[in-house]
Amino acid sequence: MNQCWKIAVIGSGPAGFYAAGELFRQQSWEIKVDMFERLPTPFGLVRGGVAPDHQKIKSVQKIYSRIAENENFRFFGNVEFGRDIFQADLLEHYDAVIYSVGSPADRELGIPGEDLSGSHSATEFVAWYNGHPDFCDYKFDLSAKNAFVIGIGNVALDVARILAKTPEELAETDIADYALDALRASQLEDIWLVGRRGPVQAAFSPAELREFMELAEADVVVEQNVLELDAESQQILETDASNDTKKNIEILKQISLRDVSAKKRRVHFLFLSSPVEISGNDKVEKISLVRNQLLKREDGSLAAQPTEKINEAAAELVFRSIGYHGQPLPDLPFDQKSGTIPNECGQVKDPENGNKLRNREYVAGWIKRGPSGVIGTNKQDAVETVHRMLETFLNEKMEAGKNCANPDIVALLENRKLEYVSFADWKLIDVHETEAGQKQGRPRVKLTSIAEMLSVIRQKK
Ligand code: NAP
Repeated sequence: MNQCWKIAVIGSGPAGFYAAGELFRQQSWEIKVDMFERLPTPFGLVRGGVAPDHQKIKSVQKIYSRIAENENFRFFGNVEFGRDIFQADLLEHYDAVIYSVGSPADRELGIPGEDLSGSHSATEFVAWYNGHPDFCDYKFDLSAKNAFVIGIGNVALDVARILAKTPEELAETDIADYALDALRASQLEDIWLVGRRGPVQAAFSPAELREFMELAEADVVVEQNVLELDAESQQILETDASNDTKKNIEILKQISLRDVSAKKRRVHFLFLSSPVEISGNDKVEKISLVRNQLLKREDGSLAAQPTEKINEAAAELVFRSIGYHGQPLPDLPFDQKSGTIPNECGQVKDPENGNKLRNREYVAGWIKRGPSGVIGTNKQDAVETVHRMLETFLNEKMEAGKNCANPDIVALLENRKLEYVSFADWKLIDVHETEAGQKQGRPRVKLTSIAEMLSVIRQKK
């Protein structure tokens, strides 16, 4: 109990906070946690990814803020791993490091025209409407009439819903002001959600699907023939399908039976279709979609198999929403295919060194397992990592402080003249944003530039 372990956590999203929380739950270990975050604001995708009209989901921030109140916790925002601090610094100052940096990039379709102006990744659009400082200058041509969202996971549904909502529906949220202004002028009429497989294989959740039935000024369109399933899908639905899948089919049925009124916009669910080309002179004008059929794989799952049938449609905006992807970190191994850091139960392993395990480096969250699951999934994931780390300390007979007898990291940050943001500093930003929000009946008005955030802290301190 006398030994005090110093752990660095890189990244302040759900996985990082759950890891810190689990470290503080240990009765027989005294543990200090320093969390580093490249933005001045904490909470990762809870702030920058969760849709602004899903405030209930964002309330998980309260749990993270309670973890941050622990006397053994410190937050160092505005400090970027790989730019301001490096692996060697961390290993000199801490017993171990947990990397929980998420999957900031996105997967590409690999089709012609994907790079044309007007073709975007969902990750860019999501970060833009959420006021992420790196994306606040992005432009999306909302004078378009037709937008295609490729992929039918929950992110795709977020993108389609935000495009479909009226300014009034969005005005009560904490959507970035500039995004609200741009969406206010939107001319969009038709939004197409494009799934490469059928409705039984859809990745979205029932709660997210149901929301489309409640849109003020957008009809949702599901053709009835979409629900005439192939024999394999029908069998899966009747035997192995999850409750969520069964609910999805039920809701799609309800939607297909509703009358399409004459609302300003329409959201169409298109299944068994894949884009093969995006074309236009200097910007997106057209999308070509191939009709797929489902083919049974050896493991029993159904894969999309293109047929000969191709349809062309007018499109001025395309968002690919086919999953996030991790990015390599300096001095750490990386598996390009899965976009993850190779690990065993969260302990980093070196494929180029016979899969040797690193005793002082760990991963948690999407960079550990890939971009899947809801926020809560990261709790179990981080718990596994923390337990593996503590077991390794015991099994390897490691001693607290043996490898990190260096002075406090603050000396290094100050030597490097880094303007780091503490958790108390973040609370000044938080109060500033929520007070501005209260005046407009909104949860908060987000600051969207790092300079602005630092200036608020300097003024209020
Ligand atoms: P996702 O759930 O993995 O969905 C990806 C979608 O892209 C799937 O429909 C997939 O189809 C499709 N896709 C993949 N490659 C494709 C290709 N080459 N061509 C066409 N389609 C392709 O990913 P996500 O939507 O980015 O979400 C990431 C995680 O965050 C998920 O676990 C999600 O549930 C979670 N999330 C949750 C919420 C919420 O709870 N409200 C909100 C946002 C995100 P196949 O199935 O055929 O591969």
